[in-house]
Amino acid sequence: MTHMETDIQNLLRPNIARLEPYSSARNEFKGEASVFLDANENPLNPPYNRYPDPLQRQVKEAISDLKGVAPEHIFLGVGSDEPIDLLFRAFCRPGVDNVVAIAPTYGMYRVCADINDVEYRSVLLEDDFDFRPGKVLAAADENTKLIFFCSPNNPAGNALSADRIIEVLDRFGGIVVVDEAYIDFSSQPSFLHRLPQYPRLVVLQTFSKAWGSAAVRLGMAFASTGIVDVFNKIKYPYNINQLTQEYALSLLSRHGEVRQWVQQLVAEREQLARRLAGYGFVRRVYPSDANFLLVRTDDARRLYDFLVDRGIIVRNRDSVTLCEGCVRITVGTPAENRVLLEALDAYAGPIQKQ
Ligand SMILES: *Cc1c(COP(=O)(O)O)cnc(C)c1O
Repeated sequence: MTHMETDIQNLLRPNIARLEPYSSARNEFKGEASVFLDANENPLNPPYNRYPDPLQRQVKEAISDLKGVAPEHIFLGVGSDEPIDLLFRAFCRPGVDNVVAIAPTYGMYRVCADINDVEYRSVLLEDDFDFRPGKVLAAADENTKLIFFCSPNNPAGNALSADRIIEVLDRFGGIVVVDEAYIDFSSQPSFLHRLPQYPRLVVLQTFSKAWGSAAVRLGMAFASTGIVDVFNKIKYPYNINQLTQEYALSLLSRHGEVRQWVQQLVAEREQLARRLAGYGFVRRVYPSDANFLLVRTDDARRLYDFLVDRGIIVRNRDSVTLCEGCVRITVGTPAENRVLLEALDAYAGPIQKQ
């Protein structure tokens, strides 16, 4: 075993390090044949009578071509939710280990920690919604297995400082997760190109946002083979169904169209930000590298209720520390954004109307 692999081995829960995984018929025979009588499938109703490829090789090839990451460094899950949960199940001993994350951030890290009975330590961001590496590292101890970063972050929308994430990668001995669900909307580069340097880095991306496919439930984790192999060992054998694999292949072949969606949404975001900043009730529109805007207002509850009455739903973040008075607004279609702005004109009243 290489030095890198022993590093990962030593971080694993002992039961996972020892685990003998389920071996499916599709795992044991991978070659070409004409008569498949090995998996107790129904021979009728092709092609959906057959179990799908447990390792989604074709989809990973297409992702590999697009992202420049070799297939053996790619894991596919049922949304990002699955690799987030697998990180806890692989590395964190319930009731013993802990994880560290910035706050405010995406809510699923804490939910997964709670489900897995793992202590969740949050480190409040600074006023600029970025973090100080010293504070994050100070929250960690010898039982800290995972540190979560989300960049661009949710709900603030800003990309975190890459240099500071690298400082944590250099100084922390456990797994560092960088959730890049919104990276396609960002002006900052992805951490994908740093994977060869950092065997304990996990980069999460998803088909749910830029790829417009939240309903499909397909997430990507990129990591060293030591980590990807462990995920493959503990996932449900056929976690990504055949329909999803076919859909993903088709969508990946249309990636030019997806790039246009992203360009349109980024342009809409900038226009929406300018308009929002003009209202008297808006204290601040935070700069965004994502497909949403965090907006500080003089009264988030009143604004939220006003919009709900008009059938427009935004996310009230008033109760989140550092987000007092804030709503989070997703960038919609040009027509949806127009409806929102018309409602905001009405909310602002005749004096503030522009
Ligand atoms: C929306 C979002 C995701 C997407 O999760 P899926 O399970 O892939 O739909 C992941 N991370 C963050 C921070 C998000 O905001």
